[in-house]
Parts: sequence; structure tokens; C-alpha cells
Amino acid sequence: MWSFRAWRRRRILSRSPYTTRHWHEVRGRLPILDGLSEAEEQRLFQRAILFLHHKRLTALLGVELDELDRLTLAAMAELPLLHLADLDWYQGFHEIVLYPDDFVSPQRHRDAAGIEHEWDAEHSGEAWLQGPVILAWPGVQSSGGWDAYNLVIHELAHKLDMLNGDANGLPPLHRNMYIEAWATAMQSAYEQLNAVLDANPEAHTEIDPYAAENPAEFFAVTSEYFFSAPDLLASAMPEVYRQLGLFYRQDPLARLLRLQQDHPDYRDTTNG
Ligand code: ZN
Repeated sequence: MWSFRAWRRRRILSRSPYTTRHWHEVRGRLPILDGLSEAEEQRLFQRAILFLHHKRLTALLGVELDELDRLTLAAMAELPLLHLADLDWYQGFHEIVLYPDDFVSPQRHRDAAGIEHEWDAEHSGEAWLQGPVILAWPGVQSSGGWDAYNLVIHELAHKLDMLNGDANGLPPLHRNMYIEAWATAMQSAYEQLNAVLDANPEAHTEIDPYAAENPAEFFAVTSEYFFSAPDLLASAMPEVYRQLGLFYRQDPLARLLRLQQDHPDYRDTTNG
């Protein structure tokens, strides 16, 4: 059957300025893509091109963005969606705004006693419900390695979470998943992390304590670890890793272990 959508995709791809030479350069910048199959890489490359076609990247004064930077950002953005069916998971926004540095934004929180608290917080990223995604460019440039940090994946995980309303740590699950299993895995790990930090706010935790802020941050931070430090996440919170594996339909841990099997010092060398 003739499909307008497929035809349009082919047309966008055929008019793209990006070549496999660009892709190879991007690959060199993003160790977290190591170990993907050739077919996966090809799909990711195409999806990154389509991403740049559909989303506007706005660089504020002080951010210099070349074509390779754009493709690199798009590849990280599309990695989480690589095995999700052809749904428009990023339908909730049209624009990514790149700030030259961390930015201060007003925060508001109503506590259990009903009192509104307002303060200014320094952020490197923000995702607004039905609004743009804001990223600090240095944070984007520090993303892409296996080092438990990926600002792009973190903020876009908030967008996936918001697909069914407010960010609350529950994105739309697939038909073969169970809300109870998801909630139990997420909530018990979240509560455990909070208990450790309540007992000692300075405690060293395997997962960034920012995950303990609220269930939305828990989902975003653990998604970030899932793709950039799957071994840490799987050992600290195996059930969370399992649920995220069902959601993203990927197994980055297996990929990382294969790479390490082939090159025992693999991760250390990519960390530079
Ligand atoms: Zn966040």
C-alpha cells in the first residue's frame, strides 16, 4: 500500500545534507552508541535526520552550533526511541532551546501544609509541559559517554513522561507491561533511596540523589543511567532496570558487557 508518510520520510532523507561521513564523526563523539548493530545504527542515523527536520534547535547568544553538533544532539535524542514503534513520541514539543550555560529559573512548590515556597534554582535543563525543551549547551557537550550523565536523554525522558499528562514518573506503558509491576519497582526503589538520604543527606548513593526529588526526576535520572551507566543502575536497582528495559525495549547493559568482553579496559578508555 502506498503510504504518504513513508514517501515523505524518504523525501526528507534523500534531501538531507548529512552523509555517512558525518555520521562516522558523530559516532566518534558518542561512546554510548558503541555496540549497536549496523541496522540499528542506520535507523538511528535516519531518525536523527528526521528529528532535525521536525524540531527547531534554537541557539541563544553564546552558543555556536555546527551541523555535526546538531546531528550529535539528535542522535542522543533518538537513542531512547530506537526500538519503540513508529509513534511520534516527541509530539509534545517543537523546539529545543540551547542556553550558553546553566540558567536560573524560578521554582515553586506547595508543601504538605499548603504553603507555597518559591526560590531560584540553577538548572542545566528543563522540559515544560506543552512547551520547549531547554538545555545548557555545556551539558549537552558533556553527554554521550558511559558516565552516568546525559542531559539530552534526561530532559527528553520528561517529555515521554508528559505524554499522558503531568510529569509523574509514569509514561504511557506498552500493552505487554503492567502498571502494578512498574509502580512497585519504581516506588520501592524511590522510597529506598529517599530513606537512605533521609537518614544521612550526605550519604554516598550509587544513583544520583537528584533522583530522590520526586517520581518524575526518578524516571528521568534512571532513564539517563539506563543508557549511560546501565551497569550501575542494574546493580543498584535491578527491578527498575528491568522495567525500563521493557519500556525502551533495549538492553544497554548487555551491549556494554559485550564491549567490555571484547576489550577489558573498554569503559576506562571511553571515559578518557
Ligand atoms: Zn529533570
